[in-house]
Amino acid sequence: MPLARVRMTLPAFVEALGAGVHVIDTGFNRPRFDAAYLLVNEGRAAFIDTGTNFAVPRLLAALDALGLTRDAVDWIIPTHVHLDHAGGAGLLMREVPGARMLVHPRGLRHMVDPSALYRGALAVYGEAAMARDYGRLVGVDAARATTTHDGMLIYVGGRRLRFADTPGHALHHHCLWDEASAGWFTGDTFGLSYREFDDARGPWILPSSTPVQFDPAALRTSVARLLEARPRCMYLTHYGRVGEVERLAADLLVMLQDMVDIGQALRHAPQRHAKLREALFAMYLRSLRARGCRFDAAECATLLEMDIELNSQGLGVWLDRQ
Ligand SMILES: [Zn+2]
Repeated sequence: MPLARVRMTLPAFVEALGAGVHVIDTGFNRPRFDAAYLLVNEGRAAFIDTGTNFAVPRLLAALDALGLTRDAVDWIIPTHVHLDHAGGAGLLMREVPGARMLVHPRGLRHMVDPSALYRGALAVYGEAAMARDYGRLVGVDAARATTTHDGMLIYVGGRRLRFADTPGHALHHHCLWDEASAGWFTGDTFGLSYREFDDARGPWILPSSTPVQFDPAALRTSVARLLEARPRCMYLTHYGRVGEVERLAADLLVMLQDMVDIGQALRHAPQRHAKLREALFAMYLRSLRARGCRFDAAECATLLEMDIELNSQGLGVWLDRQ
């Protein structure tokens, strides 16, 4: 009897990338802005980043669509505890009772008791935006969480993955190496690359210096360490899989140095935050125009608004820490 060919119809927000890797659009901010990944091997599964609470129905729908029960999920792995990556992790842990969380040691206490994370974000975004974008954060039972360390190995089915401690974007950031697809799950360590900017010259990338732990020297070292594995691709949270890793790394490091130079030049400037915003946006526009970007300045400003603001804030915090 011929084997029935299983044809799975995936929801529009799930894309199968091959090799058991699925990217899920969490819906945060705009389409294809914020990703969660579902890695499936031999019937076992892991989520890498979760998006916010509002992403959890999508993550569960992705499991359903792939014919996986909730018991198939062994691991829930936030790359770091910023809310667009881990805001939904506690709620997801509740829905997937057999899973363990793997979290960077510096992020563990924030996952167990998210009140400080919530207060920090509240100070930046305000009540209305917190309710709209993040909802109430759910703490994780400490008994279900394991901290990671550099070089730590985990398995999804028989598939081996390795953690690397990657400070620079945040001190609570690790990346996860997938040998089978020769790709890193990079969180925000390998910057941001929005699909809207893709063109004949390939993807465009920019570094992320979200407050409050941006450290350009550490970030440079972390990017270099990722390259040592000779990756064929990077799985970015913002957004999706990119190839051309060597070229993107070079572009990323050039822009990182430009950011540092901008920060140093404006260190003592009056109205520094506004000037940092202006200078960063001008830098992004120069880089985009050099490749013949099809968007005008206003469209670029709209697509990059959140990063212009967060990167300026993060650069400011770094300057004050010097
Ligand atoms: Zn982040």
